[in-house]
Amino acid sequence: MQFKNFTCLLICMMSLWACNQAQDNKTKSQDGSATDERTFLALDGDTLEPVEKSEEEWKAELTEQEFRVLREAGTERAFTGEYWDNKKQGVYTCAGCGLPLFSAETKFRSGTGWPSFWEPIRADHVWLKDDSSLGMMRTEVLCARCGGHQGHVFEDGPEPTGLRYCINSVSLDFVEGAKMKAEKP
Ligand code: FE
Repeated sequence: MQFKNFTCLLICMMSLWACNQAQDNKTKSQDGSATDERTFLALDGDTLEPVEKSEEEWKAELTEQEFRVLREAGTERAFTGEYWDNKKQGVYTCAGCGLPLFSAETKFRSGTGWPSFWEPIRADHVWLKDDSSLGMMRTEVLCARCGGHQGHVFEDGPEPTGLRYCINSVSLDFVEGAKMKAEKP
């Protein structure tokens, strides 16, 4: 009996989760259009709203290479980026919108020629998406705030996660000496 109750509870919880996922964190505003209620955290603990811009707007504010990587999922050549060998302490933010994405404390030497991290600074600051391009199944890593392409995550990283977030330098800015502050009360 107890097992049956537990199974029912589990099914209810999974249904609720699926329902929330289906809503994609978007609710309807009064005029019926979808509004995005997700929020993110700045380095200083301030709340950040999602960023949505047109292709023209992105083109106007990004360099050609940033646009190719961030908005068209391009990849910089290995060992050419600014941060693959950066050993300084600080926080890496999205080059598109400034959202904190990775801490230097989780950066490791992968030998790939791209900045590599074993976890993001906050799980909800990255958006993981199936990617079947180039004839293989990979998991794409995007900035959850602006949708900017960052790189891919692989399951051959070091402990404690065993993950390798392989990120383009051009998708990142680096704030030397910065630390992520906790959420404002
Ligand atoms: Fe971003």
